[in-house]
Amino acid sequence: MFKENILLAKYGSYKIGGPARYFFHAKTDKDIITALKNRNKNDGFFILGGGTNILFDDNGFDGLVLKPDLKNISVKKNVIIAGAGVLMEDLLDFCVEHSLSGLEWAGGLPGTLGGAVRGNAGAFGGEIKDSVLAVSSIDSSNLKLIKRKNSQCKFDYRSSVFSAEGACLPVGMACLSGRQGKEIILSVELKLKPGDRSTVKNAIEEKISYRRLRHPIEHFNIGSIFKNVAFDSVSKKHHALFLKAVKKDPFPVIPAAFLLSEAGLKGVALGGAMISPKHPNFIVNVLSAGSADVKNLIALAKYKIKKDFQIELEEEIIYL
Ligand SMILES: Cc1cc2nc3c(=O)[nH]c(=O)nc-3n(C[C@H](O)[C@H](O)[C@H](O)COP(=O)(O)OP(=O)(O)OC[C@H]3O[C@@H](n4cnc5c(N)ncnc54)[C@H](O)[C@@H]3O)c2cc1C
Repeated sequence: MFKENILLAKYGSYKIGGPARYFFHAKTDKDIITALKNRNKNDGFFILGGGTNILFDDNGFDGLVLKPDLKNISVKKNVIIAGAGVLMEDLLDFCVEHSLSGLEWAGGLPGTLGGAVRGNAGAFGGEIKDSVLAVSSIDSSNLKLIKRKNSQCKFDYRSSVFSAEGACLPVGMACLSGRQGKEIILSVELKLKPGDRSTVKNAIEEKISYRRLRHPIEHFNIGSIFKNVAFDSVSKKHHALFLKAVKKDPFPVIPAAFLLSEAGLKGVALGGAMISPKHPNFIVNVLSAGSADVKNLIALAKYKIKKDFQIELEEEIIYL
């Protein structure tokens, strides 16, 4: 049931990364419980969604990668109940099919619903938390099932209770990403509004077109590398410069892309990785990049932004 030595590059949108020692595809909640019961408790484990926000290391992961492929989806009145493994794209198709409005902002957002909830994904002023009614999860340490209402999920900017540090690695070892939660999201209840089918469809397609135009999706990537920076957290010294770039996300932020562009980092390349000239908050895999190429570019960008603007950029991506 546990597969061995599975190349992680195959499971991520970056196409970077060495092998996972063990890999488990869970099709049901029961599968997840079985995997958690039978895993070697001395090994670390990692939960994988669509792999669209993760930089896998070339050396791979010496533990268990658990992929909850829970794809059930149903609707009652305006409430959708969907498994964590449902792709956002499929969830949006389902919304269109049932003329439900509320998730149009997510048009073109890659990855799974579980990944989106864990990181409170957002775009165009919307966030997944705006539609979440409740989240069901399992605590990997004691196999307890938990159901939380929205208010108990501690949603914040690109974070939630599920991204809090948890038991992803054996006691005594630091968490590799520093962010892996110990709970596995199983399913999510989303409250939507009745809408007009073609209006919902058009709004989603508008977002997809915008992304196609602005994002360097012609290259392998994992989305925005850095979080945008809260405008009220930066020194007044640069306010005049930053004011022209401030946007709501959903609070006033300076886009990391703007800072990287101002710092002259567009198009800077190391090995096979490059800071995209099209959207500098994307580091694209242009020429069979290794994880070290990306890490070195991230370090360079952080150094330069600190030097030029006294701002500590924080990664949005997850390292494994
Ligand atoms: C082209 C592109 C554009 C993007 N645009 C946006 C954007 O506009 N806004 C935005 O917020 N993000 C964006 N992203 C980043 C990414 O798509 C989102 O963060 C997405 O929600 C991640 O989902 P995933 O299933 O791929 O998660 P993964 O990348 O597989 O995992 C991300 C994290 O979630 C955890 N996780 C995944 N599933 C579960 C689960 N069931 N239970 C518990 N933890 C879980 C993982 O352990 C990991 O820590 C973009 C990425 C790309 C490639």
